Amino acid sequence: MPELPDVETFRDLFERTSLGRDIADAEVRSPEMLEDADPEALVSALRGSSFGEAARHGKWLLARLESGPWLGLHFGMSGRLVFLDDGDEPAHTRLLVRFADGTALAYDCVRKLGHLALVDAPEELVEAHRLGPDALSLASRELERARGRRGTIKGRLLDQGVVAGIGNVYADEILFQARLHPATRVDELDEERRRRLAGAVRRVLRTATDRDADPGAFPAGWLTPDREEGAPCPRCGGTVIRTRVAGRSTYLCPACQQAP
Ligand SMILES: [Zn+2]
Repeated sequence: MPELPDVETFRDLFERTSLGRDIADAEVRSPEMLEDADPEALVSALRGSSFGEAARHGKWLLARLESGPWLGLHFGMSGRLVFLDDGDEPAHTRLLVRFADGTALAYDCVRKLGHLALVDAPEELVEAHRLGPDALSLASRELERARGRRGTIKGRLLDQGVVAGIGNVYADEILFQARLHPATRVDELDEERRRRLAGAVRRVLRTATDRDADPGAFPAGWLTPDREEGAPCPRCGGTVIRTRVAGRSTYLCPACQQAP
């Protein structure tokens, strides 16, 4: 599932390929994935315009059109962007933006769990989805506000209304790096552990983004590349277990991350 570092790789691809190209036409193949916009409004905003800049908030990629509005792309469980120079379009293209020079950009999403939006400004999308600050910008301060809150720290990391951008895989990596058990209750975190957690959020997301969200390129000592039950813990050699926290499959090392 695309999380913040994955969406950063989509932004990178988008910026390298699609900024400034004249848009000849667009096709909305799955109009049911559109939020609060009709397909014709989206197509007419795209046609004859071009993309001026890209931004990201949490798991949303936003692209400003020179005609005014912003196109918002959320990648759900399996979405991705594919730039088409001469190749075939992917099998599950939901939106196809055709450029005047013959190239195209495809938003491909196998399961229709992603979303497309047309908004006047990124803040509109942030408000509509009640998103918290982006995990790379404000994680520390927001996590500091954990004091007095109920629930588990994993649940809090996954709550897009608290910090936006972290999903199931990176939540486990962050907690592994911070040596905190995912089921630790938020109100049981002392000052030192809150700092450790906030530091791990920044370090894990920055490092993963710098390495193009490719687990094969992650540092030694990370959990994600061998995220499976029974795998050896990359830190202590113990055994990684799978359990359930905050309603989600959770991988951890019981020796490194002591149960609360
Ligand atoms: Zn361990």
